[in-house]
Amino acid sequence: MEKKITVLPGDGIGPEVVAAAIRVLQAIGKRYNHDFQLGYAAIGGAAIDQFNNPLPEETIEMCKQSDAILLGAVGGPKWDNNSPELRPEKGLLRIRKTFDLFANLRPVKAFPSLLNASPLKREVAENVDLMIVRELTGGIYFGEKQRTETDASDLNIYTRSEIERIVDNAFEMARLRRGKLCSVDKANVLETSRLWRAVVDEKKELNPDIEVEHNLVDSVAMKLITNPGHYDVVVTDNMFGDILSDEASVITGSLGVLPSASIRGDNFGLYEPVHGSAPEIAGLGIANPAATILSVAMMLQYSFGMKEEAAEIERAVNAVFEDGHFTADLAKNNETALSTDEWTDKVIAEI
Ligand code: ATP
Ligand code: MG
Repeated sequence: MEKKITVLPGDGIGPEVVAAAIRVLQAIGKRYNHDFQLGYAAIGGAAIDQFNNPLPEETIEMCKQSDAILLGAVGGPKWDNNSPELRPEKGLLRIRKTFDLFANLRPVKAFPSLLNASPLKREVAENVDLMIVRELTGGIYFGEKQRTETDASDLNIYTRSEIERIVDNAFEMARLRRGKLCSVDKANVLETSRLWRAVVDEKKELNPDIEVEHNLVDSVAMKLITNPGHYDVVVTDNMFGDILSDEASVITGSLGVLPSASIRGDNFGLYEPVHGSAPEIAGLGIANPAATILSVAMMLQYSFGMKEEAAEIERAVNAVFEDGHFTADLAKNNETALSTDEWTDKVIAEI
């Protein structure tokens, strides 16, 4: 197969982990005979420095010509005092809006060899294999905001069709996995949640093969700690999803291993590690590339339909961990830690 990918390395450790993931992508291309065509463009702080714009028109154009986007990370102290329009994070918000990437997928799966780093007991964390589906382009983040001397407000607004498309997506995701869907809301307090719940119930009628439960967000916040193995697919709105996906991310023990995808219901998508630009270790060649490598696996699966290739990357990453090879963030002592490139070489050798 021939696929075009726009690569946006971004800031901090972004370029390092992206370079590692691209090497793995090329190894997969070689092994399975795919032609991955790469185009590089600027986003975030790097784009501000070069074009005075966190998401230049050239970048948008290149993304439009491609089948998927791979992103490193954006941001860093260098741009912290910039005006709101010239903040690196603006580039990320804008690219999601421009391409209408309304569904954010965050899988959280325990790697047995990393569980020592989990704050949860081994027997609680070991069977975690869940996917949070977060609505990404609506809700309180984008509703009208007001502020006077004496008060402030943020409008939380969802249209029926915005809810329908994310819920449809979550049902499909549940069907690809273990057939269980937990919808999370605050229907005892919020009107948006009551509409959300009604839509889920309507869709449930159309998807009788999927087991559906409703749960309040406060209760899910607890259960993610006490019994995270209970969950398969969790679908929720923008704000609850933001909070719950950060909470779920600590279960595995490391930010450095968590991939994510932002999709819109066709094959196009943006793939990036959950972690940020980690400026304090940028340029040292010690960042953990696993999250970005696993983001490439998600791209292969969700944008290109390459299930076997995706599974091969996941298998290789797991095998390298099982063999006891770690980067500095996960190694027990620094002498045994591998560099970003050394660890990536191990993964490639597995493939
Ligand atoms: P952002 O605001 O961009 O989301 P953040 O404040 O959430 O950033 P991260 O950049 O995600 O922070 O990093 C949080 C911590 O985890 C930092 O100490 C960082 O060094 C470490 N970290 C994050 N990603 C990695 C990685 N891939 N490899 C090693 N350490 C990492
Ligand atoms: Mg963060």
